Amino acid sequence: MDFSYTSEQEAFRSRLRDWLKQNSAGVFGPHYEKLPRSVAGVFDVGDDASWERVLEWHRRLYQAGYIALGWPKEWGGGGAGPVEQAIYQDEVLRLGLPLYGANMVAIDRVGPTLILMGSDEQRRRYLPKMLTAEEIWCQGYSEPNAGSDLASLETRALLEGDYFVVNGQKVWTSFGHRAHWQVLLARTDPTAPKHRGISYLLVDMRSPGITVRPLRQMTGDSGFCEVFYDNVRVPKQNLVGELNAGWQVSIATLMYERISGGTRYPVDSTLAELIELTKTIAFAGGPATGHAYVRQKLAQLAIEVMCLKLSRYRSLTVALKGRMPGPESSFGKLFATELSLRVAMFADELLGLHCGLELGSLGAVEKGRWAHRTLAARAATIGGGSSEIQHNIIGERVLGLPKG
Ligand SMILES: Cc1cc2nc3c(=O)[nH]c(=O)nc-3n(C[C@H](O)[C@H](O)[C@H](O)COP(=O)(O)OP(=O)(O)OC[C@H]3O[C@@H](n4cnc5c(N)ncnc54)[C@H](O)[C@@H]3O)c2cc1C
Repeated sequence: MDFSYTSEQEAFRSRLRDWLKQNSAGVFGPHYEKLPRSVAGVFDVGDDASWERVLEWHRRLYQAGYIALGWPKEWGGGGAGPVEQAIYQDEVLRLGLPLYGANMVAIDRVGPTLILMGSDEQRRRYLPKMLTAEEIWCQGYSEPNAGSDLASLETRALLEGDYFVVNGQKVWTSFGHRAHWQVLLARTDPTAPKHRGISYLLVDMRSPGITVRPLRQMTGDSGFCEVFYDNVRVPKQNLVGELNAGWQVSIATLMYERISGGTRYPVDSTLAELIELTKTIAFAGGPATGHAYVRQKLAQLAIEVMCLKLSRYRSLTVALKGRMPGPESSFGKLFATELSLRVAMFADELLGLHCGLELGSLGAVEKGRWAHRTLAARAATIGGGSSEIQHNIIGERVLGLPKG
């Protein structure tokens, strides 16, 4: 593993850093670092005004050529190598800004899946508007009775002539209320064994028969939704891959989600902010930074942040050697999200009763953003496959342990 960057890579970082500095203040305001941003970049999109800012941020990233850095140039991406992509992630997350602009689901996973497994017609139709964020995407996988055991899904899409007719319900659909399009996993052959009768469809969210209901989370935000389908007609040409072979397509999307799951949380900068916080508060009757327990905990978290970084470099080495990451991408997702939670929980412990004050409350430390983070951080350990499921994948498919 070589830890040094070439002069071109250093020049790329410095251009990007300047660009981010000039543009982020224009969109998010000079005090963006004081917002509960760990959430803004991940699942939640906030109120309409915040969403407009994220859209504007997306447009600027697109115009500057930073959206979809890793997509091939042929499909409008940056064609950048893994090192440039990692530099981009480091610099954007250092400022706590949204990595994929406004279209995380599209840029991070649906676009790459279409590039890999879609038809040319589908790529030509959908990819350009993903890049410009003219069309926002969401992912319709989970259902009330199918989450970790996704293959148990019951939403049906039965072929009638040139259309699939969809009936059923999805839940926890991030960006559902902002999205124009959805990738939908639905059962197209109810008689086949459960992994075999599923197809992967592209659904226009404005189709008659779709009802979207935002859900309110414990943070108070509404980042995801329930989606209901009542005889929704989806043209046959919106099928990706073969009929009844959608499981393989869905795994590609999930794999992209898990790879980025190890990289898209700004744990590094959150810890740096926590260290700054400890300089301003008291703990057990004295300055927090002078307390051995606080110092020990911060040192431990700093070690873990470094481990996360090194494990990212290990994945990067795999990518540089041209190999596709496999089930080991679960490790990054598991470690990054659990570490984010540990950092937030320690802030919670340090702030004690102050952490009971919600965002914006009078008397809340730093406007209550730490309490908000603690609540939001848990969600990341569930979305994209819960920590328990990642443990199972690592145990069974990476370490080769017997199935429990
Ligand atoms: C912030 C957020 C955003 C999300 N966005 C989307 C989205 O955009 N689209 C979408 O389709 N879904 C989305 N989800 C849903 C997410 O994929 C599911 O919540 C997740 O897969 C878990 O499914 P479940 O909620 O049904 O829990 P369940 O599967 O019912 O699990 C309940 C508990 O049992 C444990 N468990 C289940 N099976 C096992 C097992 N075999 N071994 C050990 N433990 C097990 C789980 O770890 C969990 O603790 C999102 C979730 C969150 C939190």
